[in-house]
Amino acid sequence: MPAPRSAAPRAIALVAAGLATCALLAVAVGAVFPQAPRDGHPDGLHASEAAIGSAALSPPSDTVLRVTFLDVGQGDAVLLQAPEGQTALVDAGRHDVVPLLRELGVERIDLLVATHPHADHIGGMARVIESMPVRFYMDNGDPHSTATYRRLLAALDARPEITYLEALPRTISLGSAEIEVLPLLPRGTMDHNDRSVTLVVRFGSFTAFLSGDSEIRQLTDLVGRGVVPRMTLLKAPHHGSDNGFTPGFLQAGRPEVVVISVGRNSYGHPRAAALSAYAGIGARVFRTDIDGHVAIHGYRDGGYGVARGQQVAWLATVSTGDRDRIRLGEAFGPAAVVGGGAAAAAATGARVRVSVHADAPGDDHRNLNGEYAVLQNQEDRDLAIAGWTLCDDANHCFRFPAGAVLATGGTVVVYTGPGRPDGERYYMGMGRAVWNNNGDTATLRDGTGATVVVFRY
Ligand SMILES: [Zn+2]
Repeated sequence: MPAPRSAAPRAIALVAAGLATCALLAVAVGAVFPQAPRDGHPDGLHASEAAIGSAALSPPSDTVLRVTFLDVGQGDAVLLQAPEGQTALVDAGRHDVVPLLRELGVERIDLLVATHPHADHIGGMARVIESMPVRFYMDNGDPHSTATYRRLLAALDARPEITYLEALPRTISLGSAEIEVLPLLPRGTMDHNDRSVTLVVRFGSFTAFLSGDSEIRQLTDLVGRGVVPRMTLLKAPHHGSDNGFTPGFLQAGRPEVVVISVGRNSYGHPRAAALSAYAGIGARVFRTDIDGHVAIHGYRDGGYGVARGQQVAWLATVSTGDRDRIRLGEAFGPAAVVGGGAAAAAATGARVRVSVHADAPGDDHRNLNGEYAVLQNQEDRDLAIAGWTLCDDANHCFRFPAGAVLATGGTVVVYTGPGRPDGERYYMGMGRAVWNNNGDTATLRDGTGATVVVFRY
């Protein structure tokens, strides 16, 4: 059923940050958008009537949309990073998230969204506005009586260059990704949670659904309107509360992966009923209280990779081009890696899973074959891996010998110490342990030197 809309779809493009482009856009934005009112309630704005021409760049074909759930304790802060570098931050946790953003290399926010004015979503927002350039700010237009909300308004007030957008149905281009704003329930008839700004983020066939603290009433309304798409990724509504899902909603969305943004709380989040509902549809579930930061890398073909905890911050230290070439150690679906140019060709598309068993029983240096790396071929074809290398952070490398094959669905094990290879077991022949027990990086490269997979622990 097509989505009923109160108005024609409108498009705004947040284009890449070239100097010339920025200057042009600044003019366009100034001409098109009225300024946000500075006296509190933003109602009455009609910024949504505007359209800046579709200025999306022609995107590279193999790139990554990153959706990072920051570990902000009990609250939400979701960072979207388009392949071309544009950023959106959906909610900003209860406390200051600026250090986390800086840790991830974020210097500016193109679109800042407050899903609803509760403190676990907007508590850190004023600091973001005060600390880095923000271009667009969106909320549902509902005022709140708290000091936290007033502080947010004051921060916006001090930055008149930020363009206000009310969360009306519209589509926003974030580089080559698209953000669709879904219709809200009417104002004034329900709790703040059920007027959470709801966004569908699309990048090729990869689809993410973010809806703040939506509860049953809002989710039921969205299902009824037919606007809940099949989704790759769901941010668990309302921190995995038992009122943050309905069977109809999960049936419509059928997410492959669910991320619960949650910390210590007195509400019992996430609730057992929600967890079993997610398990019941076969979704993989990640939780910020267990996994730390959770980054989902969405690929245009609908596949995705997952990075967690330290791995997320480490990825931020890798240059953008390299980051896009990296297959995450834990990657699912038909995810194809990305923009490596001709040299990277065949092998970088290979789904190989790497894990490292760094801590040998006893003294690692005396039990060298108690330490090993495992490669698993998740392709439905055999991979010829002769000439491929597996290296640690300090560039201790093992090169697979002539004739080495990683059979479809099969594994090979690379032991640190000496031994006789048999086609499934290989030996680095090292005199001392290689894999650092406190964390290391295993990089698998193909015969051309192109990175196939990086496993960081
Ligand atoms: Zn909340």
